[in-house]
Amino acid sequence: MTCCRRLIQTVYLFGRRRTMSSSSASRQSPISSLSVTFLGTASAQPSSTRNHSALGLRVGGDVWLFDCGEATQHQLQKSNLKMGKIEKIFVTHTHGDHIFGLIPLLASCLNGAGGAADGAEDARTQVDTTIPPLEIYGPPGTRAYVRGGLKYTHSLLGKPYVVHELRSPSDPQEEEVLPLGNAESPHGQDIPQVDGCWKNIFTDSAISVSAAPIKHSVSCVGFVVTEAPIPGKIDPKKYIPDIKRTKTPISVMRQLQQGESVQLGDGTILHGPPRRKGRKVVILGDTYDPSPIIPLAEDADLLIHEATNAHLPGIDPNTKEIDTYASVEERAKSRGHSTPQMAGAFAKRIRARKLVLNHFSARYPGDETEEANKIMDAIAELAAKEFGSSVTCAKDFMSVDVVFND
Ligand SMILES: [Zn+2]
Ligand SMILES: [Zn+2]
Repeated sequence: MTCCRRLIQTVYLFGRRRTMSSSSASRQSPISSLSVTFLGTASAQPSSTRNHSALGLRVGGDVWLFDCGEATQHQLQKSNLKMGKIEKIFVTHTHGDHIFGLIPLLASCLNGAGGAADGAEDARTQVDTTIPPLEIYGPPGTRAYVRGGLKYTHSLLGKPYVVHELRSPSDPQEEEVLPLGNAESPHGQDIPQVDGCWKNIFTDSAISVSAAPIKHSVSCVGFVVTEAPIPGKIDPKKYIPDIKRTKTPISVMRQLQQGESVQLGDGTILHGPPRRKGRKVVILGDTYDPSPIIPLAEDADLLIHEATNAHLPGIDPNTKEIDTYASVEERAKSRGHSTPQMAGAFAKRIRARKLVLNHFSARYPGDETEEANKIMDAIAELAAKEFGSSVTCAKDFMSVDVVFND
């Protein structure tokens, strides 16, 4: 008990929420690599070829995790993402297929331990308050789920975390309040919705994250990750003659490259190239209608949209004879989900440049067999007809680079 009391006291030493961690403070612009790795692409039930929902967004040297279905840490171990690089976790909704893997992942990432026998000290249960907390963002219930999961499994963490919840006006005001976890920062925020969305829930000089509600069977959000404007393309030939003529150090090129203006010795002013639009990634949770996120999601370079159910007569051997596209769409919507056509139409509506589908029914395999490829090609084709451009169906461990719109 003495040990536990000390641990609970240490929690109050945590600083306020940091909007810039030690690594994000040094994030380069443009971000050296921005890519998505799918860790799980199944819907309600996993299969031998698809794990439950999770994807990692590589942001330079950091990893941001979006959803954390069961066995996500196993998938991470098999992927090219490093668990120790996870800086933030974004939860779209608290359905089990998106969050059941969070407690074990935290236990692994944050040096978890199951306590010590009476009278024994366990150094692993000392919370290291000198490091920034792992930040978790999610809808209401995320904090209670994490607290309950850790409390009832007697899990003590050795590194700090914090949970910020995205609150909607329609959320119930009364909720179960569990005590703060041993490593939980007390500075988790309840972020109110403003003008129908949560703008800049995280921001630093290179990148920001906003969110908006999307329609599903429970509170669910989509996230929009936007890179800050990046330096324009510089043409040295345009500047060198003036720089040489005025004997100005060539190092001014660095300022010009950043889009700044520089006055030379003879009064000439050189203007760096204007900054270009950074990249935008839209990652949706489960949805039958994501339209509330449109104002944030327009002109995305990459949209990740679920496509749980499809009507594939003659291709999917499990197609029921009585089904039509309309009946499949109606059933998908009634369960809060989308068809490939719905995903394609949404991608077109927001003028996305690339569409990747995920969150597939267990009947759509994710391996490289001929049958799997035939089904997934047909699903991609259904979405592509609405989108007007080619579409990719995600597989577990597939990575997609987010490229500039040049
Ligand atoms: Zn789901
Ligand atoms: Zn769901």
